[in-house]
Amino acid sequence: LFVEQELTEGEHRRIDGQQGHYLASVMRLKAGDPVKLFDDKTGEWLGVATEVRKRDVTLEVRERLREREPVPDLWLCAAPIKKGRIDWVVEKACELGVARVAPVLTRRAVVDKLNLDRLRAHMVEAAEQCGRTALPQLVEPVKLAALLRDWPTGRALFFADETGGAPALEAMQAHPGPAAILVGPEGGFDAEEREAIRVVSQGVGISLGPRILRAETAAAAAVSLWMAAAGD
Ligand code: SAM
Repeated sequence: LFVEQELTEGEHRRIDGQQGHYLASVMRLKAGDPVKLFDDKTGEWLGVATEVRKRDVTLEVRERLREREPVPDLWLCAAPIKKGRIDWVVEKACELGVARVAPVLTRRAVVDKLNLDRLRAHMVEAAEQCGRTALPQLVEPVKLAALLRDWPTGRALFFADETGGAPALEAMQAHPGPAAILVGPEGGFDAEEREAIRVVSQGVGISLGPRILRAETAAAAAVSLWMAAAGD
């Protein structure tokens, strides 16, 4: 269970709201039952229920089970796509272990409004489900031109290019270290954007095979390949 405020050994933490309801009424927690907690800062802790009411529970934070995990230094920069699909992307990015998700606004993007709270909730759920002890950072949407202009030195940029790029795995193995994957919207990047990605921030075009993938498939495939190349 993810909690916003940092956990400390021995404290009694009251869990209310949706999480309290979930523990008390859905999981039917009883006093003495264990619950694993993490806060994205100090790792994972064992909590034991000391009081269970109708809509909230109190947990005694007993001992630290795991340190916060080391997070592979990969960002996923993805053009927003439709609601259910972007939710899926964020969920999979979290499961696969990325450090940051950055929505990127491009010319052909059909979606320009994003509910970051909803996306973050999906991330938290994915982290809880797959046992992460760190959450990916979810940043405000940024325009492609601004992203490229402020590109940090030393971070490789791999952009998924269905019009022809280097085989992804080889390109990633050739550029180890901090990296980002950039995936276009359903309509793809236009030629000018592709050129800007190459010139302004030395983006490396990567191919994910001869078929045109949906943006969300391309994102999950590229992240998986990077994790395989990095051994993460
Ligand atoms: N421009 C295309 C069109 O409208 O026919 C398709 C865009 S594709 C649906 C969405 C995004 O997924 C692309 O911008 C690209 O980043 C990525 N993508 C899809 N297939 C890919 C492939 N085979 N190799 C690399 N990237 C791919």
